[in-house]
Amino acid sequence: MRHIAIIGSGPAGYYTAEAAQKTFGDDVRIDVFDRLPVPYGLIRSGVAPDHQSIKGVSRRFEHVALSENVRFVGNVTIGSDVQIAELQRLYDAVVLATGAPHDRALGVPGEDLANVFGSAAFVGWYNGHPEFAGLAPDLSGRTAVVVGMGNVALDVARILAKTPEELRDSDIVTHAYDALKSSMLERIVVLGRRGPHQIMMTPRELGELGNLTRAAPHVDPRDLPDPGDDAMLEPGLRKAVRVLREFAAIPEHIRAEQPIALEFAFLNQPRALIGDGAVQAIEVEKTVLERGRAVGTGEIRRIPADLVISCIGYRSSPLPGVPFDERAGRFANDEGRILAGLYCVGWARRGPSGTIGTNRPDGFDVVEKIAADMASGALGARGKAGRDGFDALAQERELDVVTFQDWKKIDEAEAAAAREGAPREKFVDIAAMMKALG
Ligand code: NAP
Repeated sequence: MRHIAIIGSGPAGYYTAEAAQKTFGDDVRIDVFDRLPVPYGLIRSGVAPDHQSIKGVSRRFEHVALSENVRFVGNVTIGSDVQIAELQRLYDAVVLATGAPHDRALGVPGEDLANVFGSAAFVGWYNGHPEFAGLAPDLSGRTAVVVGMGNVALDVARILAKTPEELRDSDIVTHAYDALKSSMLERIVVLGRRGPHQIMMTPRELGELGNLTRAAPHVDPRDLPDPGDDAMLEPGLRKAVRVLREFAAIPEHIRAEQPIALEFAFLNQPRALIGDGAVQAIEVEKTVLERGRAVGTGEIRRIPADLVISCIGYRSSPLPGVPFDERAGRFANDEGRILAGLYCVGWARRGPSGTIGTNRPDGFDVVEKIAADMASGALGARGKAGRDGFDALAQERELDVVTFQDWKKIDEAEAAAAREGAPREKFVDIAAMMKALG
């Protein structure tokens, strides 16, 4: 028997578990660890609450989680409750699927002003992640600035713009639902340091901004490149730019009917956040593109901003004793192998890019490397203690381990507490989750 520990129960973790099952069959036991008592990582606390169909992938992960040779080990923090080196002694292979849970800093003055947040924190707030549930953003101002032109910026702008009716069927947590209900925002500026041809938004997600009840997208036609230039773009981006052109063609009188303006500001890079205690404005510098890069022109202006959410990417958390690439913000690895017996997948491996489905081939890739290292003898002989060894350690340390069956109790309690039309009301703190276990 071989033993694999996977750290993180998000898409990267469960796709790797599935790949390991398919590759090694009954010859493997897989433990999937999570620091929270609930599984699914980004599916639960990253994917937008109004994108329920994307969350459907958790049914596939549940199927994996419920199989004989896979076990969920929740409420255990690797790096504090148990060390990586200890897991390496117990398991043949340890796979880090810990994602990239921290915001990259904008690196401009004023970032620590009140009502300035990174997307990990802000998305975590409306998705009920225990670490960010208490964020309490102030939505009483007129203008929000969302920095970045990726899909996370789109999620944030859309959630800020939606009406309570549009959010009712989502699993947005009630503290955020209520706060958004009384939001006074009239203007949401989506700020990009590069141009329309460099957006990282996908067409379907961008198109959603064109169908909102109380908000209309504003794209200045003068900001768009010559239509003939779209031909050289890759097809997905070309489609997204077509959506921007549709937005630019919305007649002014139609746009003016909507109480919230969703403005796209291209070729503007943040220089500073201005405010006295709380943010009041963002100072931006006009840019031009030089060989695809944004270069400042020295032309500075201020955009009023009562709330700033920076959606510019994420970093992984280093773990004691594991080589980390500080510049890239992820584990130092060679195509998923950190060293024989220690691997990484998903955002922890390649940084924060790609869709949920990208993790499937990633999982198979890393399992192939594990299989090769087993075959070459690099992982040593069979006979590691595996889950029995972990259970002994957990007992000795009095860890309050949460099983998948326990999670199902939390799941049921959340479904039972849902407001009308919503799939669940999430527990937003760990103590409440543990209490639901009785
Ligand atoms: P992303 O796609 O990499 O976009 C990040 C954006 O931030 C880019 O526009 C980037 O501009 C900008 N940026 C970076 N540093 C900046 C700085 N210092 N100042 C100003 N702007 C800066 O990242 P993301 O939106 O966080 O998304 C992460 C991944 O999750 C992506 O693969 C995304 O597609 C995926 N995702 C998918 C969905 C979905 O399919 N529904 C939803 C959410 C997320 P530059 O291009 O100039 O660097």
